Amino acid sequence: MTAVLEIRNLHVSIDGKPILKGVNLTVRQGEVHALMGRNGSGKSTLAYALMGHPAYTVDEGQIIFDGQDLLEMEADARSRAGLFLAFQYPVAVPGVTLANFLRASINARRKEANPEDKGISIQEFRRLLMGKMQSLKVDPSFAGRYLNEGFSGGEKKRAEILQLATLEPKIAVLDETDSGLDIDALRVVADGINNLIGPNLGVLVITHYEQFLNYIKPQFVHVMYDGRVVEEGGFDLAEKIQAQGYDWVAEKYATA
Ligand code: ADP
Ligand code: MG
Repeated sequence: MTAVLEIRNLHVSIDGKPILKGVNLTVRQGEVHALMGRNGSGKSTLAYALMGHPAYTVDEGQIIFDGQDLLEMEADARSRAGLFLAFQYPVAVPGVTLANFLRASINARRKEANPEDKGISIQEFRRLLMGKMQSLKVDPSFAGRYLNEGFSGGEKKRAEILQLATLEPKIAVLDETDSGLDIDALRVVADGINNLIGPNLGVLVITHYEQFLNYIKPQFVHVMYDGRVVEEGGFDLAEKIQAQGYDWVAEKYATA
């Protein structure tokens, strides 16, 4: 069965201030979507609300994931159900190596699927990790480093894609995975995502640059303005943003 992430009329506030004002967005497993919009339009707020960050209050609306009410689930349950979130500013976890983090995550997913599961063996995990690291062009020593501690912008993004590759979620939301990357790193990360895209993975790429989208080629493009998705279309909409920027969006939807 195809997993669907359905966001219906989502209203989210931070400290009582409304940020999302009725977002509707549906992503199916196997589809590639882009969420674009100027800085401050609410893109990251949507990502945090999807993961259940406690500072983001859902005032109205629903999020249904794979037939379940996501808003009733804790953050770790959302992840185990197959929703993956890569954040714009990943947190450092001193004392936990990337390898241990990945192994624990894989085991949590396996246990969710089968409570009897004994976990992935060291050898199997090592083989899996080495293969994924090779395809992402990351140095094997990377796995022994503490998660995100002292990682460069490019390393953080590669670590995220490595997580995406090993966890095999149903739907992944990638918030500004392209930010802070030079052109070569951008291509490696985009290739990494492209290699994972297929019938089993749905992706929502959040970005305010269109350059990344030239590599990812989303089938569906959504543009956010002031807490709402105001424009939707195909890849041509991303090209329009590329050519004209966001001014026309602001002019069309600004309320006096
Ligand atoms: P985007 O990711 O599209 O740049 P954000 O979701 O980060 O936008 O921000 C949307 C709006 O919410 C902005 O006006 C921002 O100032 C506000 N905002 C975001 N995070 C917080 C926060 N922790 N506290 C207060 N306001 C916030
Ligand atoms: Mg953001």
